[in-house]
Amino acid sequence: MSRNCLFCKIAEKALDARIVYENSKVIAFEDVNPQAPVHVLVIPKKHVGSAAEVLEGEVWADLMGAATEVARELDLGDGGYRLVINCGAQAGQTIPHLHVHLLAGRSFRWPPG
Ligand code: 5GP
Ligand code: ZN
Repeated sequence: MSRNCLFCKIAEKALDARIVYENSKVIAFEDVNPQAPVHVLVIPKKHVGSAAEVLEGEVWADLMGAATEVARELDLGDGGYRLVINCGAQAGQTIPHLHVHLLAGRSFRWPPG
């Protein structure tokens, strides 16, 4: 675990979160400040600072595989859903541990602004 990383603490269950999915590599939990009726964060358990720091394709396979699995389990296919990764401060990343936002339950604009 990376020292003082909020999402590492959630992955280690040292901090509470509403966990909706977990496997050996990935954990998914509800966002504390939801931007849609469904707002889940999907993270690798192993610390990776951002999308720019991913060195192994396996990380993407694990992460996106889990994200689509969560969408299936929550039955989001019909209404659709959005997957978002903010990489770096200018893109809106505020927590420096790689995470995929899974958003659903309302319409989304494009471009996102
Ligand atoms: P970012 O802006 O880095 O792409 O997304 C970070 C997300 O983490 C935000 O949507 C924010 O609401 C969420 N978040 C920040 N702190 C916590 C926390 O302590 N618990 C949970 N469950 N979500 C958090
Ligand atoms: Zn971390």
